[in-house]
Amino acid sequence: MFIDSHAHIDITSDQKRFMDFDKKKHLIPIELSDLFPPDLDYVVHISLNPFDFLKNYPIFKQYPKMLYATGIYPDHAAIKDFDEDHYIAELKKVLLEYPHIALGEAGIDLKNDSYGTLSQQESLLHKQVALAEELNLPIIIHSRCSFRETYDVLKDYKTKAIIHCFSYGIKEAEEILERGDIISFAGQLSYKNTLELHAVAQMVPLESLLFETDSPYLTPTPFRGKWNVPANVEHTYRFFAQLRDIPLEILCDQVKVNFENIFLKKN
Ligand SMILES: [Zn+2]
Repeated sequence: MFIDSHAHIDITSDQKRFMDFDKKKHLIPIELSDLFPPDLDYVVHISLNPFDFLKNYPIFKQYPKMLYATGIYPDHAAIKDFDEDHYIAELKKVLLEYPHIALGEAGIDLKNDSYGTLSQQESLLHKQVALAEELNLPIIIHSRCSFRETYDVLKDYKTKAIIHCFSYGIKEAEEILERGDIISFAGQLSYKNTLELHAVAQMVPLESLLFETDSPYLTPTPFRGKWNVPANVEHTYRFFAQLRDIPLEILCDQVKVNFENIFLKKN
């Protein structure tokens, strides 16, 4: 019924980080199998680099609901003596040798000073979009405070982009939709004060839409402040359905069609 199109299952299920985060809240630690309740159809596990993917895949592959996307997260550009070509070559190998539905997340983040210079991030993104295009994969994009810069790179390619954890306004949403790209809402949509996001949710065509948790981050209302898990994606669906005054089942069916069209269609 529900699909979480973006989660970091390795970080979410890391017992040590979970216990540190949850010290005062006394939740039960997460078992990997608890992350896939029956009403979740799919969870896309996002690896932040190809080496993380290789580390986790032997454990994760026993869960048939898990699908995979791997990219090189923009902060890698800031690593001292970062060997971009080596990372891109390893990424290509992993995408070719293991089942993947997308490349990502990749992108540009100008919110965090520690992520490297714009030109370093642009170079890394260019190479990844080119690789996605070569391999005929959609790309999951991380874009923070860098809409123009991100789309200046994307405009040179035909690859379909999924703008994960959408955090812009109507104008940017229109440009995204015009290119045929996809808006993915995370838990912030359900917060009272994210009025710009609510406005975008009112106008986005139901065919251009996905939902995600970005677990363990960005927990939706009513669990804000707690460690996020894929099952919580339901609350973002519910918020959207209420806002648009459409039945939850219709929304779930449409998002599933979108997901299958974007990621699972073989061509
Ligand atoms: Zn993410």
